[in-house]
Amino acid sequence: GAAARATDLSKVYGEGETQVIALDSVSVEFRQAEFTAIMGPSGSGKSTLMHCMAGLDTISSGSARIGDVELTTLKDKKLTQLRRDKIGFIFQAFNLLPTLNALENITLPMDIAGRKADQAWLDQVVATVGLAGRLKHRPNQLSGGQQQRVAVARALAGQPEIIFADEPTGNLDSRSGAEVLGFLRNSVRELGQTIVMVTHDPVAASYSDRVVFLADGRIVDELRSPTADSVL
Ligand code: ADP
Ligand code: ADP
Repeated sequence: GAAARATDLSKVYGEGETQVIALDSVSVEFRQAEFTAIMGPSGSGKSTLMHCMAGLDTISSGSARIGDVELTTLKDKKLTQLRRDKIGFIFQAFNLLPTLNALENITLPMDIAGRKADQAWLDQVVATVGLAGRLKHRPNQLSGGQQQRVAVARALAGQPEIIFADEPTGNLDSRSGAEVLGFLRNSVRELGQTIVMVTHDPVAASYSDRVVFLADGRIVDELRSPTADSVL
């Protein structure tokens, strides 16, 4: 089934002479337990697509759904709730709180939402991203790669419907980046997580199951990894 789906999604910024069509009738489906990379030149609409699908930005026309929830029908409060309950985020800057240890960072969004993390799931997540033995460390006691793995675990902790990752390896050296990508892939394979990752790095994209290419706000190509289905 689809974890998320855009149908004829358009996004226009500004009006008149300054009008920019950031997304031009985009239709795309993100299937459960699939790892999709979104690539394309700067300004092609990658961030806009992610923001619209994550309910961080309103859409101009068409439809954006997370599971079977149509985002355009939700008011602010419900949208915030949906983001908290159904969506995980991973950013280029790890966005960890320096005063909290790794475990506290991982459970923070759930603590804020007043949700109790499922301990068995949490143990599985920590093992999947290779953080066992590092949970008491503060961010400044961890390498960049480890900090991003904490951010990955934080995104996974609430068992979200879908995770949106924006250039998750942009601040990492290639070896740490490869590790983080390996753990993202593991979380798709082993935990059944759905992930959508924006990247300009073909090496990063090679860890995904399929690559969707954007240009000028339209989907211009789509590639499926030859290993995507055989591994599953
Ligand atoms: P990408 O992530 O692929 O670099 P973006 O989604 O950021 O592309 O941008 C797509 C287009 O929308 C670009 O032309 C950009 O200038 C424009 N755009 C993005 N955000 C805004 C905004 N807040 N206001 C006006 N134009 C914007
Ligand atoms: P990674 O491959 O995860 O980026 P590194 O190769 O950078 O890890 O680091 C190897 C080990 O050194 C890590 O397991 C970590 O425990 C430790 N380490 C790295 N950077 C730091 C740091 N700034 N402070 C404390 N320990 C560190």
